[in-house]
Amino acid sequence: MDTVDEVMRKLEETELEKLKMSMVKTLLNKKVFHKYRFLKKWFLVAVDGSGMVSYSKRHCDNCLTKTSSKGKITYSHHVLEAKLICASGFSISLATEWVENAEKEFEKQDCEQKAFKRLAKKLKKMYPRLPICITADGLYPTITFFDICKDNQWNFIVTFQDGNLPSVWKQINSNRDTVKKRKCSNSNQKADTVVSRNYKWLNQLDYHGHKLGWIECCETVTDNKGSQKSTGSFVHITNFKISDSDVARISEAGRLRWKIENEGFNTQKNLGYKLKHK
Ligand SMILES: [Zn+2]
Repeated sequence: MDTVDEVMRKLEETELEKLKMSMVKTLLNKKVFHKYRFLKKWFLVAVDGSGMVSYSKRHCDNCLTKTSSKGKITYSHHVLEAKLICASGFSISLATEWVENAEKEFEKQDCEQKAFKRLAKKLKKMYPRLPICITADGLYPTITFFDICKDNQWNFIVTFQDGNLPSVWKQINSNRDTVKKRKCSNSNQKADTVVSRNYKWLNQLDYHGHKLGWIECCETVTDNKGSQKSTGSFVHITNFKISDSDVARISEAGRLRWKIENEGFNTQKNLGYKLKHK
């Protein structure tokens, strides 16, 4: 392992990214992931930030800092990852970008947003013609994000929270009478339960010229004794035109990243590689 350590210290991280890219391109050329394409066209790419290392003392100039309520400062490094995700649970890193600190106090939203601009540029350069659909959390419904997706001809399905884009929420709330609805039920034989999902959606919402679709999915689980339990509501915003036949798939795709979000990091930490925090 000393030799591995020496090599890794000398190796530029861009070389590792090149290696990763050529491996993924081989798999794409061999159409290994084609059967997982969303709506037979789109490759789902989850974008998400994750903490990598943290220290109680300053480690370098670029550390992110966080002050606790008691005044204790923690120094850390975060990474923004674009991962190809498949319904089977595969989660494969396409591109990585460090979230670097601004001069002042670190605010997650600003920094992750800035890192996303660099990540998007890199991703487009690496995979210029790949039909990508970005899935991401509630930090992402912003004009900058929509513009980047439009420029790159990417689609997106992102989590939409109460605080996001008030003008869009206003349009949703004033169109409550005209929302389209659909109900789906699936039985889960293993767990002996029935999962019911009530979908509501609207198309053609306007946000600075971007035409957006809104989906809400309310999920309830009924067990074999007939008792019902709500398992949450999942709200997404997308540039796909939502139809009766696609609404369930679009909502599901938006949730896929949550289901396998930590797959990659979990594999690195627990399944075989035993990577630990530095
Ligand atoms: Zn540092």
